[in-house]
Amino acid sequence: MSSSHDPAPAAQTTPQPPAMGLEWRNGFADLGPAFHTRLRPTPLPSPYWIGRSERVAREFGLAADWFASAEALEVLTGNAGLPGGDALASVYSGHQFGVWAGQLGDGRAILLGETAQGLELQLKGAGRTPYSRGGDGRAVLRSSIREFLCSEAMHGLGIPTTRALSATGSDRGVQRETLETAAVVARVAPSFIRFGHFEHFAANQMDDELRTLADYVIDRYYPACRHTERFGGNAYAALLEAVSERTAALLARWQAVGFCHGVMNTDNMSILGLTIDYGPFQFLDGFDPRHICNHSDTNGRYAYNQQPNVAYWNLYALGQALLPLIGEQEVAVAALESYRSVFPREFEGRMRAKLGLADAREGDRLLIDDVLKLLAAERTDWTIFWRRLSHAVRSGDFAPVTDLFIDRTGIDAWLPRLADRLGGTQDAVAGETMLRTNPKFVLRNHLGQQAIEAAQRKDFSGVATLLNLLETPFDEHAGHDAYAGFPPDWASTIEISCSS
Ligand code: AMP
Ligand code: MG
Repeated sequence: MSSSHDPAPAAQTTPQPPAMGLEWRNGFADLGPAFHTRLRPTPLPSPYWIGRSERVAREFGLAADWFASAEALEVLTGNAGLPGGDALASVYSGHQFGVWAGQLGDGRAILLGETAQGLELQLKGAGRTPYSRGGDGRAVLRSSIREFLCSEAMHGLGIPTTRALSATGSDRGVQRETLETAAVVARVAPSFIRFGHFEHFAANQMDDELRTLADYVIDRYYPACRHTERFGGNAYAALLEAVSERTAALLARWQAVGFCHGVMNTDNMSILGLTIDYGPFQFLDGFDPRHICNHSDTNGRYAYNQQPNVAYWNLYALGQALLPLIGEQEVAVAALESYRSVFPREFEGRMRAKLGLADAREGDRLLIDDVLKLLAAERTDWTIFWRRLSHAVRSGDFAPVTDLFIDRTGIDAWLPRLADRLGGTQDAVAGETMLRTNPKFVLRNHLGQQAIEAAQRKDFSGVATLLNLLETPFDEHAGHDAYAGFPPDWASTIEISCSS
């Protein structure tokens, strides 16, 4: 973060209704002033498009001609208001790197409103808010491209995530380690509420607000908790259990695809179990269980193999925050228990799918553990291994798989075990399933980096190409094999930190 280059938000002028063809409301705004501050985004001069997702526009219900308009560019950069929307920044707190950080909040994200179908639209990098804490309220081009692309990449992979409608830029300077330029990501999600929202009201002994927030989340997103028979009908304990289960399922998917989030602070944990706040994330290249993707994470708190435990730690912090509503400590602990059974079950399920196994059998866990050991021993490329294995199971030709290993004794012993388990060395049906499970394309750091460097020269075609590939990462996309190859040597020198 750095000091501001932006003027204070201008006095509101009456905006012309944009022909977005949508009715707006804002359920979160109705919670009251303890939860947020109403304010408008700070405009950016001469905005331009960096990337646009037609898919999100359609799902959001936007008219295609509006999304293509100059007005859309202004609204999605924060330069024009959204009539009927109720722009606000929300307050939350949280634990960062395991330490209580106190009040944080939307320091640069502004919620514009919510559609009648219940999707919120938020601008990230839209200027200062009362929660900016000395930051400039801005986001830079490189981090915005990464968030824009990764949101849609995760969705393409079938992983719950906030979505990205667009990324827009401006030549307005933003000071980080060097002088960069500003960008805004328009994000879409049913809700951007984080564990940290609950921690905020708990830490400040604001039990009424805590209850209001929990009731809102239950009624809007977890209505089944109202009618639970578990925990003696305790809806708040049921909420904690439901969030634990969604988080467990999310973590299983991250681990299976080799996704490292990089900053799993409690303020970056979605109450809906969505991947949220893309910063120094990385998809694994070679399989290193202890891989640390965040250059600022010197102790490896958020290393790849730590993620499932950290999620549980974060859920514990959420449980602590919900304790005034849940009542009994033992009940809260019981509600958290589900994580410890759901995560391994879900993870094994994802790994079995990666192996083309349609059902669960005894011994599967050993088969999985053994292949993970082989991959770790040689730092075998995670994505390429699984994709080649999928093709091999379909065709019966395993040479491209064994070629990935210098020492082939291990893989030569393991492959027959898989074939045995599948019931033959060739299984076209299992192979097809594997090709729909093990992606060809993931947003590797070097791919993002190339698109960013082109965008810094005002060439946004790389962003569009990647978006197209990552939206359907299981398709072959003839002619684009270069995007599915091994990372170049320089990829390991890319340093990505919390700076964004
Ligand atoms: P993050 O590390 O991006 O999850 O952000 C942690 C906290 O810092 C959140 O409250 C953010 O809103 C805030 N923050 C990060 N960058 C900035 C910035 N440039 N200006 C204001 N607040 C920021
Ligand atoms: Mg954050």
